[in-house]
Amino acid sequence: MTTHDIHIIGGGLAGSEAAWQLAEAGFRVRLSEMRGSGEMTPAHQTDRLAELVCSNSFRSDDAESNAVGLLHAEMRALGSLILREGDAHKVPAGSALAVDREGFSSGVSAAIEAHPNIAVVRERVDTLPSEGAAIIATGPLTAPGLAESIGAATGAEALAFFDAIAPIVHRDSIDFDIAWFQSRWNKGDGHDYINCPLDKDQYLTFHQALLDGEKTEFREWEKNTPYFEGCMPIEVMAGRGVDTLRYGPMKPVGLDDPHTGRWPYAVVQLRQDNASGTLWNIVGFQTKLKHAEQVRLFRTIPGLEKAEFARLGGLHRNTFIRSPELLDGTLKFKARPNIRFAGQITGCEGYVESAAIGLLAGRFAAAELAGRVLTPPPPETALGALLHHITGAAEAETYQPMNVNFGLFPPITGRSKKADRKKLYTGRAREALAGWMSGL
Ligand SMILES: Cc1cc2nc3c(=O)[nH]c(=O)nc-3n(C[C@H](O)[C@H](O)[C@H](O)COP(=O)(O)OP(=O)(O)OC[C@H]3O[C@@H](n4cnc5c(N)ncnc54)[C@H](O)[C@@H]3O)c2cc1C
Repeated sequence: MTTHDIHIIGGGLAGSEAAWQLAEAGFRVRLSEMRGSGEMTPAHQTDRLAELVCSNSFRSDDAESNAVGLLHAEMRALGSLILREGDAHKVPAGSALAVDREGFSSGVSAAIEAHPNIAVVRERVDTLPSEGAAIIATGPLTAPGLAESIGAATGAEALAFFDAIAPIVHRDSIDFDIAWFQSRWNKGDGHDYINCPLDKDQYLTFHQALLDGEKTEFREWEKNTPYFEGCMPIEVMAGRGVDTLRYGPMKPVGLDDPHTGRWPYAVVQLRQDNASGTLWNIVGFQTKLKHAEQVRLFRTIPGLEKAEFARLGGLHRNTFIRSPELLDGTLKFKARPNIRFAGQITGCEGYVESAAIGLLAGRFAAAELAGRVLTPPPPETALGALLHHITGAAEAETYQPMNVNFGLFPPITGRSKKADRKKLYTGRAREALAGWMSGL
């Protein structure tokens, strides 16, 4: 006799959200998570469920004019645990939703572990379940045994790209005679970021040092693996041109250095990383520089001369499947219909997107267990647009991980001013979601 209705493998962002949705719908879940059983991925550091491996940001929370903000709103409407705990552990970050990473993952772990319908089992799973309903949510760092089993079942090698981690600094090691608090254009509370200014000479020297710095060598099999554009190492970005960083993560616009009353030539920004405000991550500074090199180089940034690092940057290979070819419109693995895939392994990108796809996988599975068919959310919604990208719209051959964005939505027809277009997308999405939810 089985003790569960469905087996979820992987207790990250997607697996935790899927488990929550199924458990709330009344189904018994076995949630297998290998961390806590003596296993670890190359990026996680704790045994908590839904651990955030790099930035602590869920990005924009603006549901009126931003696609990921809209996705937040849709997930909240559907009872997302990840958003509930994200909101509960929010830290100041302008118009973004950033969270205290420890409080957030502890909150998710506590909710999942206390749920009467969920049994969390600390174990590594090495093969795809051959029978019984299952969701695979093992993420970009799926353990090698299971990755091999997935490769064998999909008949194709899983695809890969690189993701990188940004360093985290102890606030009390920052020199506030140089650095100052301010968010760009004084958005949010107006002082949500710490800014370190660079003049032209300092910037040019820093740029050159990034190019010259000693990097982690790639192994042979990694050499042709592309980067995900949204998580490109700082030194790779620097290699694209001397001004690329000044128009990217080191952009100075809207930031007034109190010592000069002007925008600096370039800026390094740090965003709060925990609720107590003791840890701050260097925004956009994911890197594959060697650790000693990072310490040496980042301490040349004005204000960070005595920086103490709680964590240094790193680089990891990510794995995902060719979802448009392998999954049906409800995330079901066509070759083995007892299995669904969820989260970043399906080829979405980002914490929020992974949790969103976990939410949908949970809802589709719950409907099926109840003997119902749940139609996918309409493509005009953020959830539907993302799902459609994963399961249908993209070309399987050239499929690449993607954050949610308005380019995935059906275009707005008729004439409209460019400035109004985002609001037209979000207004249309709200109506479409309400229609879909009325049939749930
Ligand atoms: C280095 C790195 C940096 C990143 N930086 C960011 C960022 O800054 N912002 C952002 O939005 N996204 C970032 N990402 C992407 C991020 O990982 C995903 O957005 C998100 O964590 C994916 O959620 P998930 O649930 O699919 O996978 P995960 O959150 O990784 O969860 C998968 C879980 O499965 C477990 N697991 C793996 N294999 C097995 C097995 N065989 N048996 C049992 N359990 C298993 C793992 O331990 C893990 O807990 C980064 C990814 C990496 C690798």
